[in-house]
Amino acid sequence: MSCAHVDQIALELPQEGAKADAVCPACVAQGSTWVHLRQCRTCGAVGCCDSSPNRHARAHARAEDHPVIASFEPGESWSYCYVDAEMIDR
Ligand SMILES: [Zn+2]
Ligand SMILES: [Zn+2]
Ligand SMILES: [Zn+2]
Repeated sequence: MSCAHVDQIALELPQEGAKADAVCPACVAQGSTWVHLRQCRTCGAVGCCDSSPNRHARAHARAEDHPVIASFEPGESWSYCYVDAEMIDR
């Protein structure tokens, strides 16, 4: 693992209960839809994945310099760094 951004992880992996009925707030605001949700592990912001038309999670990572996200999908437990394009084991 080569990611040097793990020190930006401030939050635990999201709880399953928090994922229920979750939305991408930016998509809701613009009347759009998403495919999967991701959560920023630095500040907790929820955004949509790269398979979604608006890719709000990646946009947040770039704008705020928060490169590490976790899946916010029920039953999934993994993290990923956008800068290094690799999975993170924590
Ligand atoms: Zn990284
Ligand atoms: Zn979105
Ligand atoms: Zn963030």
